Amino acid sequence: MAMAWQLRLKDGAVVGLPRALLFYELYPFWRGLLEGLGLRVAVSTATSPKLIEAGARHAMDEACLPVKSFYGHVMVLRDRVDAVFLPRLVSLSPGTYTCPKMLGLPDMVRQNLRSLPPVIVADFDARLWRRSLEEGGESVACRLGRSRGQAREAVSRGLEALRSFRGSLEAGQSFEEAASGAAPGWKTPLEGWKTPLEGWKTPLEGWKAPLAGGDPAPTRPGPRRLRVGLVGHAYNLFDPGVNLGLGRKLVALGCDLVTSEQLSEEEVQTESAALPKEIFWSSGRRILAAVTRFRRRELVDGFIHVVSFGCGPDSMVGEIAERETRRSSNLPYMALTIDEHTAEGGLLTRLEAFTDMLARRRARPETPEGSVAAEVTA
Ligand code: SF4
Repeated sequence: MAMAWQLRLKDGAVVGLPRALLFYELYPFWRGLLEGLGLRVAVSTATSPKLIEAGARHAMDEACLPVKSFYGHVMVLRDRVDAVFLPRLVSLSPGTYTCPKMLGLPDMVRQNLRSLPPVIVADFDARLWRRSLEEGGESVACRLGRSRGQAREAVSRGLEALRSFRGSLEAGQSFEEAASGAAPGWKTPLEGWKTPLEGWKTPLEGWKAPLAGGDPAPTRPGPRRLRVGLVGHAYNLFDPGVNLGLGRKLVALGCDLVTSEQLSEEEVQTESAALPKEIFWSSGRRILAAVTRFRRRELVDGFIHVVSFGCGPDSMVGEIAERETRRSSNLPYMALTIDEHTAEGGLLTRLEAFTDMLARRRARPETPEGSVAAEVTA
């Protein structure tokens, strides 16, 4: 018997994925799942100031930049697709949660944006089901009236793509490279669109500092480039429209980057078990685990933590990460807070000052404990 909330979408219907928030962690899974259910997938255009401005006009006042961007991405898609995918991501692994703004997002978007096409909402909640992606994926299939067999196949296809994506990220590939490899079709524009959506155009170069075996060896011959531990939510690290091309700027300033997304789930769990405080936000747990591991293994010359203005979890996690870094090492740690008013010139000045300081510090290896922290704060 058809359930009241069922949504009938024919094979070949186009489902829009907003290129924001946990898209940067789960895109290959979403794509594999939806394509396995006989649907075509369209990803919204790259984040731009105009898109953020449009999203900010509809989001609630206290929304952070990534949430405002999410609204903008849904607006890009709404006239161009047969349905929009708005999963409710409550908890992705047992004992952890996403943040409250993310939990309420599907409801807030539906409340605040008019003229939306049909919306596919499903809960992904590891508090209820240990295997939240599997159960959530099957509930999407059920909502779309697909058979149990097709649901299982689609979920496996999504999980397979996700595994390949995670493996590539952990090996030091950029988001674009990892996503292209795991979910082919990434760059193929869909036919029959009123306005074709563009694919990714500019892969980041130099975003490669493999962590294999914790080896801190340089990634190329000659003097080692500076290595920055870039930590934060995947959507803040990987979306150049949100972070104003931070990765590319650091690479141009002579840095190799290692990111918190390069840790495997097992590494996150191992490091988290030793943390002085239990952290319930999945992203916060990963950030603290990365800071601890990179510091203990002497993999980086300093840290940049990308923080969303107004984000409660970021303030708390950042405070712990910075305190622990200063207590246990003399590695420089810079919190870089971003919102829609962040100016590119100001950002570049801060990055130049930070990387200059890292270079000077490396030239004087015997810098006394504490003096580096003073330099960063100044
Ligand atoms: S965790 Fe922070 S940055 Fe992410 S959606 Fe929640 S408030 Fe925004």
